Amino acid sequence: DDRLARLDPALAEAILEETARQEAHIELIASENYASPLVMEAQGSQLTNKYAEGYPGKRYYGGCEFVDKVETLAIDRACALFGCDYANVQPHSGAQANAAVFMALVSPGDTILGMSLAHGGHLTHGAAPNFSGKHYNAIQYGLTESGELDYEEMERLAREHKPKMIIAGFSAYSRVVNWRRFRDIADEIGAWLMVDMAHVAGLVAAGHYPSPIPHAHVVTTTTHKTLRGPRGGLILSANGDETLYKKLNSAVFPGQQGGPLMHVIAAKAAAFKEAMSQDFVSYQARVIDNARVMAGVFMDRGYDVVSGGTDDHLFLVSLIRQGLTGKDADASLGRAHITVNKNSVPNDPQSPFVTSGLRIGTPAATTRGFGEEECEALAGWICDLLDALSTGESDKVEADVRAKVEAVCARFPVYSGASVA
Ligand code: PLP
Repeated sequence: DDRLARLDPALAEAILEETARQEAHIELIASENYASPLVMEAQGSQLTNKYAEGYPGKRYYGGCEFVDKVETLAIDRACALFGCDYANVQPHSGAQANAAVFMALVSPGDTILGMSLAHGGHLTHGAAPNFSGKHYNAIQYGLTESGELDYEEMERLAREHKPKMIIAGFSAYSRVVNWRRFRDIADEIGAWLMVDMAHVAGLVAAGHYPSPIPHAHVVTTTTHKTLRGPRGGLILSANGDETLYKKLNSAVFPGQQGGPLMHVIAAKAAAFKEAMSQDFVSYQARVIDNARVMAGVFMDRGYDVVSGGTDDHLFLVSLIRQGLTGKDADASLGRAHITVNKNSVPNDPQSPFVTSGLRIGTPAATTRGFGEEECEALAGWICDLLDALSTGESDKVEADVRAKVEAVCARFPVYSGASVA
């Protein structure tokens, strides 16, 4: 059906261009993935029309009997998937899930302790331009010289500043986090522990990364990264604390949001069901294998991988020794139809807008069907390009790599039905 093209050609063209870009470029942004056809179908449903302020069985609008079923399915599946007794599936995004937890557990002016953005934390973990850094007294921990999470610094800062809430979790860290160690220090100083597992939620669901659920008072996540659902947020807990759960629910609605996005909640329910399958478990294992293979190629080719490898779906390449910037590398790879993002690395001499690093993640490429063979070749092409950038002869290499990228993308179409169905 070409209805959109007939009635709104300008919009149809832009959507078509983005669709073609997604098919013809290799996506290595660690926070991205391709939602399954089931997730897309649920999200594109008539549920978008429904107002349902409140929670199942306690709505402020009539006609909610069927969306109640949908939200209950999403909650029950989230609880089963992650081993929880509380789930709030309404946050519109990861940032809003985090904002709701802040609203429930701390007050403006209180001290919080989170991972700094420059070292791999998220904006909402206390970064200066974000609500979390503006309205709270945000103290930040980071990485050691070798790129591992600096637990000793985190514990020292916790004892010194006595934050009311500690935030664990990251947007750019390739190692297993010791959640237990965070909980121990939180208990010692009487703080809440919030874990934001947005990046690794899919690995956690599949059992390939330690779950923070037994350790944290509250866990937040997005649903669209490794978890491969629709864009959105989720709050979880297994604390058994009904008072806490009531506070969290009130912080989401009416604290932070109005009506829930029922079509997105339906898509979350679909994604949680898919995440319970054996296919999903083996998919997440491939995501990690592919990341390991790629990180290995970079190291073999003389590039520094922060912390010396990866245990999850991503890794950071430091270009400091080569004297390259993340900005130039990102732009050159973009011209070769490989999408990554520049990222600060430990001891980065460049500003956060320029950086000396790249963040590379495998969830999307693995979803479209790339295995170790494709990932090994791809990492080699990226190294070819970086080598050429160092010698200032990247034009020809960009063209060569682009041709190889086009060929492999044609072999692994995203929505062929085979890869993401
Ligand atoms: N938390 C972490 C750790 C993230 O990496 C991100 C997004 O990149 C978010 C939260 C925010 O999610 P959203 O973009 O849905 O607000």
